[in-house]
Amino acid sequence: MSNESAAADRDITPVAVTIASPEAGPRRVRSLRQRRSPLAEPVNQLQMLDAVPLVSADGAPASFQRSLAACGHADLQPAPLEYFQINLGKLCNMCCRHCHVDAGPDRWDQVMDRDTVDACLAALDRTEAHTVDLTGGAPELNPHFRDLVDAVVARGKHVIDRCNLTVLLLNQYRDLPAWFAERGVEVVCSLPHYRQRNTDAQRGDGTYEKSLEALGRLNAQGYGQGDPERRLTLVTNPAGAFLACGQAAVEKEWKEQLLQHHGVSFDRLIALNNMPIARYLEWLEETGNLDEYMDRLLAGFNPATIDGLMCRNTISVAWNGRIYDCDFNQMLDLPSMGPGSEAPHIRDFEPQWFAERRIVTRRHCYGCTAGAGSSCGGTPDEKWDG
Ligand code: SF4
Ligand code: SF4
Repeated sequence: MSNESAAADRDITPVAVTIASPEAGPRRVRSLRQRRSPLAEPVNQLQMLDAVPLVSADGAPASFQRSLAACGHADLQPAPLEYFQINLGKLCNMCCRHCHVDAGPDRWDQVMDRDTVDACLAALDRTEAHTVDLTGGAPELNPHFRDLVDAVVARGKHVIDRCNLTVLLLNQYRDLPAWFAERGVEVVCSLPHYRQRNTDAQRGDGTYEKSLEALGRLNAQGYGQGDPERRLTLVTNPAGAFLACGQAAVEKEWKEQLLQHHGVSFDRLIALNNMPIARYLEWLEETGNLDEYMDRLLAGFNPATIDGLMCRNTISVAWNGRIYDCDFNQMLDLPSMGPGSEAPHIRDFEPQWFAERRIVTRRHCYGCTAGAGSSCGGTPDEKWDG
């Protein structure tokens, strides 16, 4: 089935795209690609980040490489591969203001096809990775999503689905909570805040109500109640140009508020910084917050985050089969660099080559090392799911 004909078969009407941002005022969010924004090109994002007058404490222009060197790390060293992350494409039923993927309902141009899914499975069989982390866009919208989950579960690997919650209310996906529960899939859900205003400001009017309904459906299948086979994690990120709060400090408050006011529960909270990439980068620039935000990330550089950075123990495969060190590098089109060459296609994956890669870093990496860190793994002492 072509992507377009699959689109016709699916109900992916955007759930929420009207943004009422206190900073930017109400507006309708569309993908950078749809608007033909220059920032749709990764190279322009990198140039914008490089142009920020970011200065280290010693007065020299800041570079992530130098910050690493200053705390005794010549480079980020690869660790044994544990997480096999597959980005199934940029198609999403939402179009959030802060999206670092530039995902949206128009993104049928980048959806992983069956051959690439099969190549990922063949490569997975050549690794010791214990967990397969499925992301997007909304990974559930990929036509091969369920086959892929079943194939991974059959291999005895743990599966994580990174879910935007609202997708679980679309007609063809309402059975997913029960379907996930049968397979022990871990669900990692985005919810910017336990308050409606903050969540809808970032993700669009109506998102909060729909997210709570989806959480209730997951709870009804046993998720979020301490069962390791029904693990439910929430991921929060700030609505403005701020760093994420320490998750340990706010998890208790989140649990109390959501249970008390809405009767929903979850297992744990991960607080992430927004990465200065794609639509969040655009928002920073448009609102005059870019320089200040990058200063904040630099000032918050925390060497204790380095050991837990996801790029060290993860392979990140893009919709087209290209190999990256992490999802963020994927969005900036900075492929993994191994001995002598750029990363091959996943169908030609070589474990040894990958183990000897040089992890590619640029200024956006400060988003992963500021405060408690933001490398999709939570605080450094807490290994999640992916
Ligand atoms: S942030 Fe997540 S839910 Fe929102 S548009 Fe991007 S991929 Fe979709
Ligand atoms: S963006 Fe973060 S996870 Fe990716 S290479 Fe940089 S530090 Fe590592």
